[in-house]
This record gives sequence, structure tokens and C-alpha cells, in this order.
Amino acid sequence: MGLEIILNKIKEYKTIIIHGHLRPDGDCYGSQFGLKDIIKSSFPEKEVYVVGQTSDYVSFVGTPDIIDDSKYEGSLVIVVDTATESRISDPRYKLGRELIKIDHHIPVDQYGDIIWVDTNFPSCAQMIAYFYYRFKDELKLSKTGAVAMYTGIVTDTGRFRFRGVDELTHQLAGMLITKGVEPDEVDFKLSQETLDMVQLKGKVLTGFERSTEGFIYFKMTRDIIEEYGVTDEQAASMISVLGGIENHPVWALIIEYPGNEVRVRLRSNGPTISDVANQFEGGGHAKAAGARLNSWEDLPKLVEAVNQRLIEWRKSN
Ligand code: AMP
Repeated sequence: MGLEIILNKIKEYKTIIIHGHLRPDGDCYGSQFGLKDIIKSSFPEKEVYVVGQTSDYVSFVGTPDIIDDSKYEGSLVIVVDTATESRISDPRYKLGRELIKIDHHIPVDQYGDIIWVDTNFPSCAQMIAYFYYRFKDELKLSKTGAVAMYTGIVTDTGRFRFRGVDELTHQLAGMLITKGVEPDEVDFKLSQETLDMVQLKGKVLTGFERSTEGFIYFKMTRDIIEEYGVTDEQAASMISVLGGIENHPVWALIIEYPGNEVRVRLRSNGPTISDVANQFEGGGHAKAAGARLNSWEDLPKLVEAVNQRLIEWRKSN
């Protein structure tokens, strides 16, 4: 789609409200605060708000605004980094006059009057950085926005390691560095670990389970989260601990949230697993997806579904 359409809509509206997804991560924040900064720096007279839940992990990127419903009257709403409507953080996204969706996930819900979805981008923040770059003669960007987008790019690509990272990713990251980003500073903020976290890592590494077909997973129960005194967000970050173990191409962290909500973070460096996630109210990318279980009792069904996928994949390889 022509990105001019999005630029023209931004120019047209006085109030722009930017939503992201539930439990925002670095890419969600990076996209939201990056876009806010571009619009505010370029058009200071506009009112631009970021709304939604907060993230402790990337709190240095920005703090969401608390706004009244009345702000939505006649506004433009932009939702970033969210494929599924039910995962949009703050249900008021429907109250604006027009809605734009900007995302890099495999589409689940086609919401929005204007949709820019491109699954070739390894992060949504890179899409926002690209948008800025495309119109750089007309748009402005400050260091705050550059840090936000750089944070989104590095977190969603696992520090430039994941599939989808290409020349453009590095070019745009380089462009953000010219706007004042100090990579070591961002890395330091992202890499700090508490002692509790290090101990929990030990628990995950010694307590994971394995299926017959090479699916590795850890059950992050409320008991464990409370015992180690970590936040839900910190507990969820343990997914990275289980990746890259030889002969175990699919791994997952299954986290119990308050209110008996059991969420699955599913990853692969072998078969596609987004369609397995689809079977459990989830979705995402081919090799990084999320899903939901009705209760722990449904875990064997997930293990079975992943096992089947691994069997099919081995046969075809
Ligand atoms: P996560 O494990 O939460 O980082 O999710 C991995 C990817 O899957 C992200 O890109 C999410 O946006 C997506 N995802 C997670 N949960 C769901 C869900 N319930 N429905 C659709 N997509 C999801």
C-alpha cells in the first residue's frame, strides 16, 4: 500500500492516539513511542498520545498517557504491532473517527480502515523507522524516538540474530544511531538482571520437560513466580533460556497468570509453529507464536500437537 496515505491521514488529524498490544514488549513500545515522537517532532501543534498497558522492562522508552474518552472524538487511532483485535490494549481504539493498523505479524483480524501489514519486517519498530526514512525530507525525529525504535528493533530481533534481519534492518538501525542512539546504553538497560532472575534461570534450566519428539517446555506456575519474587514480565522473558538446545527445535514457556490464565510462548528453529498456536487461540509468526490454554489440563494436547508437527517436519526434511 502507498505509505503516502498514512502520512496524509497523520497530516489531516489534530489528535492522534497510538495503541499497542496487551503486555507490551520492546517492539510494541518502540513502535508506539517512535511513531509518537515522529509525529510530535514534525507537527508540534498536534496532540499525540500513547495509550495501553505499561512495561517495566522497557520503561526507559516512555510512559503511556492517561487520557479521557473525550480525546477520541474526531481522532485518528493507530494500532501498532497487533494482529488480533482482542489483544489490542485499551478497548477504546474503536472510539476514533478512523483507524489505521500497522503490523508485521501474520494477519489474524483485518481490522482498520487503512492497513499496512508487512510480514517481511522483523519488527514493527523497523516499519516505523522505515516510514520515517521514506518521508525524511518532510518528517523530523528526535533522539527519544530513535531510542524507542532502536529498542524495538533490537528486542524483536534478539539483538539482530533472528530470521528477517537483513540489510535494511542494519541500515535503519544505523540511521537511528545518527539520530543519537548509543547502542551500548540501550544494551545496558536491556541486559541488567536481578539476582532473582539469575536464580530463576537456573530453575528453568534444571526443571524443563521434554516430549518424545524433542519439544522442550517449562511450566512457569504462580508458585514459582511467587517463590522467586519476579514480575510476570520477567518470568515470561525466560523463554529465551530454552532456545537453541541441540535436537530440540521447538520450545515453549507456559506461564500461569493470575485468574487461571495460562499463556504459551512458543518458539521454533525448525518447523512452522504458528498454525499449532492457531489451534490454541493464538497466532504470531511462523517461528515465534503465542497461544492460550484453558487450564494446565490442556497441556498434553499442546504437547501432542507440537509432537505431530515435529513428526511431519522430520518426514519432510
Ligand atoms: P510472545 O510469545 O508473546 O512474544 O508472542 C510471540 C508472537 O505471537 C508475537 O508476535 C505475538 O504478537 C503473537 N501472539 C502471542 N499471543 C498471541 C495470541 N493469543 N494470538 C495471536 N498472536 C499472538
